[in-house]
Amino acid sequence: MISCLRRAGVEVVERHETVWDGREHKFGVGARAAMRLAAAELRLLRAAESASVDLQSATRVLAVARHGDRFLVETSRGALSATALVLATGGRSLPKSGSDGAGYEFARGLGHSLVATTPALVPLVLDGAMGHGIHAELSGVSIDGEIAVWVDGAVATRLSGALLWTHFGISGPLVLNASRHWARARMEGRGVHLTLNMRPGERFEQVDANWTAAVSARPRATVRSTIAADLPDAVALAVLKVLEVAPDLPLADLTRVDRRRIVHALTAWPLPVVDTRGYNFAEVTAGGVDLAEIDPATMESRVCARLFLVGEILDVDGRIGGFNFQWAWSGAAAAAAALARMSGAGTAGPGSERR
Ligand SMILES: Cc1cc2nc3c(=O)[nH]c(=O)nc-3n(C[C@H](O)[C@H](O)[C@H](O)COP(=O)(O)OP(=O)(O)OC[C@H]3O[C@@H](n4cnc5c(N)ncnc54)[C@H](O)[C@@H]3O)c2cc1C
Repeated sequence: MISCLRRAGVEVVERHETVWDGREHKFGVGARAAMRLAAAELRLLRAAESASVDLQSATRVLAVARHGDRFLVETSRGALSATALVLATGGRSLPKSGSDGAGYEFARGLGHSLVATTPALVPLVLDGAMGHGIHAELSGVSIDGEIAVWVDGAVATRLSGALLWTHFGISGPLVLNASRHWARARMEGRGVHLTLNMRPGERFEQVDANWTAAVSARPRATVRSTIAADLPDAVALAVLKVLEVAPDLPLADLTRVDRRRIVHALTAWPLPVVDTRGYNFAEVTAGGVDLAEIDPATMESRVCARLFLVGEILDVDGRIGGFNFQWAWSGAAAAAAALARMSGAGTAGPGSERR
């Protein structure tokens, strides 16, 4: 992928970290990076121009059909006919960008089957009415944590990262990554719930042993300051409010039962998820065209010759970290190479014409 971009004259900067600025949906793109993106776009447009690509922006594809050896594409600016077709219409996420799921129906009409879709990389809505609905008062507070996804009574997945409380529930990279697991299990009708470990990497016994040691070492320290040694003070107060433990209680006066309740709250805080924020707030779509129907070497359909499908329209979704872009671009590069081979071999090569 990188060499493909470099061949098109695009400057590639390799980094191995995702920068998150602690606010909802804000992954850092500085001014320099934005300029590089604009320059990359320009280079790609120039490369397309010099390859005589006929780019038609602000054009909506309304219908796609196969007639004999050709594809007929009905657009908002008239009809096109082509010998090969690439569906790169994305998923259902952020429909205002134009990716509204229309491509799934095109694929279905050309013979493909679909794996049911759900939003993914999406914030989660918490039940504000439940006793643990502390998210509204913690709105804007962020911590490092670990989410356990429980499916049918057992932990199916554990993920770690930054969690952000918001006015509607929870967001941040950790939650976005966990969301597809919750949404898929819910769609399949399975019992699913999430718990948050605010002491990532530590289990109940270890945290409880630390608290027991703290009671001996610092008996006059308060429960609030003990929690707040590792977490924001607002979180300490919210946890103690829900547990109905006085924040200024000295550790020496903490009962064994309350100590264990606090440790349990810190390591397995229930997150009463009622829904995702939906496709309008989802970065990707899980589900899509069944991968079994695609040749991974060329991205050509196995059910409709010379139809290629790339990117999010397929049943692939990745965690945060650029994997979705990588999947879309790599698939596109594989499809482009296959199309070039097709035309070079002089078979019914790719080409399109206005009708
Ligand atoms: C807010 C946000 C942040 C994201 N951040 C990241 C990230 O940091 N890292 C990462 O890896 N991924 C990220 N993603 C996901 C990533 O953008 C997608 O996975 C990727 O762009 C998918 O590429 P695609 O080409 O398959 O589809 P898209 O990028 O969705 O492109 C599909 C295109 O097809 C057009 N289209 C659809 N239907 C029609 C039609 N009928 N007629 C004409 N045109 C049509 C759409 O307008 C769109 O331009 C993010 C997504 C969002 C929404």
